[in-house]
Amino acid sequence: QAEERSGDYGRTLEVAATDLNRGLDPEQVRQLISSLAAATLDMANHNKHLNEQLQKSTREIDTLRSGLESVRVESLTDALTGLSNRRMFDETLRMRIDEARAQKSELCLLLCDVDFFKRFNDTWGHHTGDQILRFLASAMQAHARPDFLVARHGGEEFAMIMPRTDIRMAAQIGDAMRDAIQAKRLRRRSTNEDLGQVTVSLGVARLSPSDTPQGLVERADACLYASKRDGRNRLTTDAAPVLYVA
Ligand code: GH3
Ligand code: MG
Ligand code: MG
Repeated sequence: QAEERSGDYGRTLEVAATDLNRGLDPEQVRQLISSLAAATLDMANHNKHLNEQLQKSTREIDTLRSGLESVRVESLTDALTGLSNRRMFDETLRMRIDEARAQKSELCLLLCDVDFFKRFNDTWGHHTGDQILRFLASAMQAHARPDFLVARHGGEEFAMIMPRTDIRMAAQIGDAMRDAIQAKRLRRRSTNEDLGQVTVSLGVARLSPSDTPQGLVERADACLYASKRDGRNRLTTDAAPVLYVA
């Protein structure tokens, strides 16, 4: 529409220029000037209108853009705990593995599963169970370095991606976290009843040269399973045992 309008205006000016070159009498010049003035006023009004529309569209785009950003953040966040969700975990793990290979740096993955959580839910109810999941999320976050990613990996299972961290440091961080969780005396928020303690089992695997993201997750999960099998409330790594030769 704007193009059409400015095309029309351009043609009006061209016709006026041709007429002027042909030579006009004073009356004709007066008429020409007044019609040009009217066309120019029209054009100015139209431009003002266009400008207003453009500003309105810009505001609409800004609103849509910030709406889109909050939907994107929401789509990567777990609603119950506020941690990253599984999708964000999958994306970040792929990215961190590529980064570790490019930088030739160490990367560890920690998986954490609540011990006897079904029993806890059965005793105290799902709502109080949810309160525990939120407590665990904040405990994990509190032990994570700023470049770690803590995610809710599944129902009552959490994950921590630990870039630039060797297996010894990863185990140390995991054990400190496990200790802090078991040391906490939990109380039911609504009634202040003593909920006793909650423990977690942990599995930590380090990235090996041939790992796919899935392979790394499976190894961490196997370590977690070993922690469960060996009595729970413990941490197992996939570090090869050190062999001492006499
Ligand atoms: P284990 O020590 O072997 O891990 O035993 P467990 O009872 O923790 O494991 P199991 O897999 O048998 O049960 C997991 C429970 O986690 C069952 C399910 O009700 C609970 N759960 C999963 N997601 C949620 C959730 O979002 N909220 C609550 N309150 N409970 C959940
Ligand atoms: Mg589980
Ligand atoms: Mg469990």
